Amino acid sequence: MNSHHAWSLVCRLFAEGTHVHRWALSPHEVAACTLLGSAIKPAPVNQQYVLCPHCNLHRGQVVGDGKGGRLCQCPECGPIQIEPQDLAAVVLNEDWLRQKLRLALEINSRDGIDQVGPDVWRLGDARQGPVILARNLSGLVHAPATLDALRVNASRLRVITPKPIDQTAHPFAVDIDWLPLQERFAFYGGGISFIAPQGQRPTETQREPAKPVYGPFADDFRSVLLPEFGHIALTDAQASVFGSLWSFKGEPTRGERIMAKAGLESDKPIDVFKVKSRDKGKLGVDRPLLAYRALVVTQRRQGLYAMPCASGQ
Ligand SMILES: [Zn+2]
Repeated sequence: MNSHHAWSLVCRLFAEGTHVHRWALSPHEVAACTLLGSAIKPAPVNQQYVLCPHCNLHRGQVVGDGKGGRLCQCPECGPIQIEPQDLAAVVLNEDWLRQKLRLALEINSRDGIDQVGPDVWRLGDARQGPVILARNLSGLVHAPATLDALRVNASRLRVITPKPIDQTAHPFAVDIDWLPLQERFAFYGGGISFIAPQGQRPTETQREPAKPVYGPFADDFRSVLLPEFGHIALTDAQASVFGSLWSFKGEPTRGERIMAKAGLESDKPIDVFKVKSRDKGKLGVDRPLLAYRALVVTQRRQGLYAMPCASGQ
């Protein structure tokens, strides 16, 4: 079960625009249903015929078994008990899709989502212009007036559609960007993320810094919050050294002991904070060293190190 299969299923359900029976899903897709949560919903289906759950070859009429359950009258196998999931179907929660696509493209215009034609929606205005979602690429290609009517002044249009397998060329006029649903978006963290083309990747959103738990340190020592420097992210080795220093509760301790407890090779705690020559000049690379200097007291001659903020902890 992974998010790739989950996104493929979303794209498939959107392209088909109707429910899909659970028995018609691959094992990967069945697993993806769990991951998708509210992105899909059970579809009410009133079936008169089902694929025989025994042979999976013939379709049989659905009849009651007289005990509240149901049977498939398979022409080959005879009456076969039907489990509820044999009749269940799933359908895409299309409101979910449209809302999450808006979020992925950072559309926060006041206007809502408008259906502008059969299976065509205007998701709103992103900074670069209107964004259109359509279920079916060929419908738009054959009716270019639909898109022309949605242009606003000279702004570019962006059009999201599922990508047909045989479509490789750009299907629209040059001032229309085509965003194939399968390729330019992904299922991520319960929502949808936009995969910007190379060269236009938006600045990555900073991970929310962890809250300090041990003094100024996060609970895994992978970041430290200092009033004069803000949040500083730390490498695994730096985190191990600070974690080790923390365990000595502010007591001056020999460097070898600190490094042994940290599980590191070198003798001096500062070694893992030094900026490597190949990293010199990189933005922020010296920040862990600032934290080290602010927090660690060294008695160089005796080879002792202490971290006073851990005293009495
Ligand atoms: Zn059968």
